[in-house]
Amino acid sequence: MLTIKNLQANVEGKPILKGLDLEIKPGEVHAIMGPNGSGKSTLGHVLAGRPGYEITGGSIFFKGENLIEMETEQRARNGLFLAFQYPVEIPGVSNMEFLKASVDALQEHKGEQPMDSVSFLRQAREMYKQVDLDPGFLKRGVNEGFSGGEKKRNELIQMLMLQPALAILDETDSGLDIDALQVVAEAVNSLRSCERSIVMITHYQRLLDYIKPDFVHVLSDGKIVRSGDKSLALELEEKGYGWISEVE
Ligand code: ADP
Ligand code: MG
Ligand code: MG
Repeated sequence: MLTIKNLQANVEGKPILKGLDLEIKPGEVHAIMGPNGSGKSTLGHVLAGRPGYEITGGSIFFKGENLIEMETEQRARNGLFLAFQYPVEIPGVSNMEFLKASVDALQEHKGEQPMDSVSFLRQAREMYKQVDLDPGFLKRGVNEGFSGGEKKRNELIQMLMLQPALAILDETDSGLDIDALQVVAEAVNSLRSCERSIVMITHYQRLLDYIKPDFVHVLSDGKIVRSGDKSLALELEEKGYGWISEVE
């Protein structure tokens, strides 16, 4: 699904990713943890192709193709999805318009007919109910005036509608209460399949009680410094990140 080798990237001319390696196979769920400012969100943005993130070395292959050469839209069409740590507001564009345009673009890419409006609406309303948001949100501007938790859930709806091959969730759990966390976990778990891979960037091991990762990685100063299974997350919670650098 995704093979990253020795990835180096700059933000505003400053090196942030400093030789990152990561291999993700179809069906796997990976958690990426690490201290603030270690480059977790940068990795997400680099993968999604956000402008301003300059790759200075290494390689990224997504479903066998060179990701670095792909435009942002092409990455999305090929099935890469990033749920932002800080979801953007798009005033004046309703969730309904936004979702329909996204789904239509994907259908077109696959050479299929656009979804008819009735089926689309039925499906979209279902998704809103699934993440415990009122379907009335469909008429509101994308994330416009939404609370933190509502934005995170709105991002999940986009993910559920688009059914990406590779979903990257950047701190989708932060700022959520325990009920909202379970809603998020259920939505993510409903997407788990042998053909899909999920990357969860998170500060807290709490989310991993509900979404069991196959692998846990620690990102520190732009590199993955340790990988393990779920027990690594528990160990981090107990001992903090300082422990990793001490034993390096
Ligand atoms: P994390 O998500 O692990 O907390 P980030 O990837 O957001 O870390 O940030 C890594 C480093 O890159 C930080 O030092 C941050 O200040 C810097 N950085 C990220 N985005 C920008 C930006 N747009 N302009 C300048 N510096 C940035
Ligand atoms: Mg952070
Ligand atoms: Mg971040």
